[in-house]
Amino acid sequence: MTANYKLSSYIVLTDLINPEFDSDPSRLLYATRTGKTFLIKDRVYSNLKAGDFTALNTRHLATLIDLEAIVPADEDEFAEILKRNVAATADTKILSATIQPTANCQLGCTYCGQVHSKKNLDQATSDKIVNRIFSNLAKPQYERLAIQWFGAEPLMAYREILSMSERLRSHCAERGIRYSAHMITNGLNFKPAIFLKLVEQQIKHFQITLDGVGATHDLMRITKEGKKTFEIIVRNILEVTSLPEFGAEKCGIAIRVNVNRTSVKAIYKLIDRLAQYGLGGKGVTIDFQPIVDWGGNNADDYSLTKEEFAEAEIDWIMYAIRKGFKFSNIVPGRRTQPCMVVEKDAEVFDVSGNVFPCYEFPYTPKYEDARYRIGHVDTIDAVRNDKAVTKQWYEEIKTDVAPCRKCNLLPICGGACPKQWLNGDVACPSYKANIEDKLLLNHLLKQGGLSEAPAAEAA
Ligand code: SF4
Ligand code: SF4
Repeated sequence: MTANYKLSSYIVLTDLINPEFDSDPSRLLYATRTGKTFLIKDRVYSNLKAGDFTALNTRHLATLIDLEAIVPADEDEFAEILKRNVAATADTKILSATIQPTANCQLGCTYCGQVHSKKNLDQATSDKIVNRIFSNLAKPQYERLAIQWFGAEPLMAYREILSMSERLRSHCAERGIRYSAHMITNGLNFKPAIFLKLVEQQIKHFQITLDGVGATHDLMRITKEGKKTFEIIVRNILEVTSLPEFGAEKCGIAIRVNVNRTSVKAIYKLIDRLAQYGLGGKGVTIDFQPIVDWGGNNADDYSLTKEEFAEAEIDWIMYAIRKGFKFSNIVPGRRTQPCMVVEKDAEVFDVSGNVFPCYEFPYTPKYEDARYRIGHVDTIDAVRNDKAVTKQWYEEIKTDVAPCRKCNLLPICGGACPKQWLNGDVACPSYKANIEDKLLLNHLLKQGGLSEAPAAEAA
């Protein structure tokens, strides 16, 4: 039987764990095809690597097959993973829609690639977008609607958001369709009274960016008139998270930290400042991301190298955990798609009624060409561009446009950001360079390591 199997190419191995204290040491083996990690004796792994499965007893062999660390010898693993990803994407029960209800934003962030104008969705276009979402939602496969509000700055169109949400939410409630909504906001207008209205419309999860603390953030995220924003945003976050509704409604705020050689100097201070208010225990999480090019603006010129970022990220995560923040997915799990662009009915709507595959395309001059659009709400039923840039990702991933077909992380990554690969950039997430460290950190947490952190944080 064992001759019919091989060690999967989709595994990650850590260094030996405590070899100085263990005469028969183990490693962590992460089978990315199933997103499962387990300890394996190094001598057992050496045998597997050599194709010798004879030392395995039947139970161990069955476990390794179940984890897909061992797979049929004649299987084309890349083809199999892609087939499963395509099938899972086609079968999704969740309809995703991103609405960018305004082209306006108060900020002039140094790395932003958008061109803003004082234009909000008008009533007619709002209605057409909502009707378009209803029309997609009428397909029998969908059991849930997931709305993302994005901008420019979505809260510049706060009233439009409330009225569209009311229609979307009621429609779903009447049909027994689950509804959730998420907002990416700069946080400047994120006042308690506004938050409470948003929660009434089931917008409960928010992403707000803080690029370091105080003056450092204010070097990168200033208003168009050059005014500082850090203290205003932090005050808003504190006031909102102090409301009883924030906890009662299970709301969450993800603080996104965009990292380059400016903000990197203030990351520990930012964590300290957020920890000082006990935000880690209040549903606030932190997400570190490198600054990348946005529509050809070379915003990544001042970024860390991928390796520098990956190394530093582990230290930031450990520091933040010690300060009370939770990281639920230090090791990413199995995912069947890179992002929404591969979903047939997932659409991004801008203020003019254009329909895009990717939320980075609206308001960005580089992406004004028709090939970046799926269509327009007025005509999309008749004129639909299913070949809009990024929509063909499941074909493009087979080519040399990206190295994903030869990457052991494909089952947990899906190819990351198709837009970046198609622009000629390297899209790999940080875990391409630090997955082994993340596996070991996760293992340490499960063992109760990083003792200053409360036990509940052991992910
Ligand atoms: S292609 Fe990239 S930028 Fe566009 S939605 Fe996907 S991950 Fe986001
Ligand atoms: S984006 Fe990078 S890490 Fe992800 S599958 Fe492709 S090569 Fe691998």
